[in-house]
Amino acid sequence: MDPRVLGALRRVPRERFVPRKLAAQAYEEKALSIGEGQTISQPFIVAAMTQALQLRPTDRVLEVGTGSGYQAAVLGELAREVYTVEILEDLSLRAQGTLRELGYSNIHFRVGDGARGWPEAAPFDAVIAACAPEALPPALIEQLREGGRLVIPVGSTRKTDSEQVLWLYTKTAKGFEAKELMPVRFVPMV
Ligand code: SAH
Repeated sequence: MDPRVLGALRRVPRERFVPRKLAAQAYEEKALSIGEGQTISQPFIVAAMTQALQLRPTDRVLEVGTGSGYQAAVLGELAREVYTVEILEDLSLRAQGTLRELGYSNIHFRVGDGARGWPEAAPFDAVIAACAPEALPPALIEQLREGGRLVIPVGSTRKTDSEQVLWLYTKTAKGFEAKELMPVRFVPMV
């Protein structure tokens, strides 16, 4: 694991992003409920997705699915600016409060459909999604700069067997390259 990613995971207090009654479980290797039927991903998945983004300190990153704000904080440790979109207003407001209390000033929030990206802030060096669409939303590739990386789970969440795959897309002059990373299970992108 990249030492910069490990350092970021060590600095972000994960217990602050989960409901108080789950705080004792915050560092266990599992996903936890954050309300509204949504979950904070297990630490290994956050680490693997963050590492795949290959962030540099000057990068500007788009996140789809703010959720608790935990992944945004990890991104905020490693990149210059983070733009995070959440479709559920309650979750976004709670994440905004947590991240403000922890002193993050390089994270920007929007309530809305992240499948459309954040056109005014594009192009991005990296894009990450914490919810799974059934097909790749074109805006997320379009809003990457050439050489930029997109990490996203794609596939159906309806069936019980694992048919979601975590993909790494790299934008090239001609289009993009796609690499399959691992089978995963995320909440659907709605
Ligand atoms: N990164 C989060 C994990 C959030 S789970 C964390 O660290 O806690 C995925 C989130 O994606 C949920 O909060 C869900 O409401 C949100 N979501 C689902 N569809 C979305 C969409 N179309 N646009 C933005 N957010 C969406």
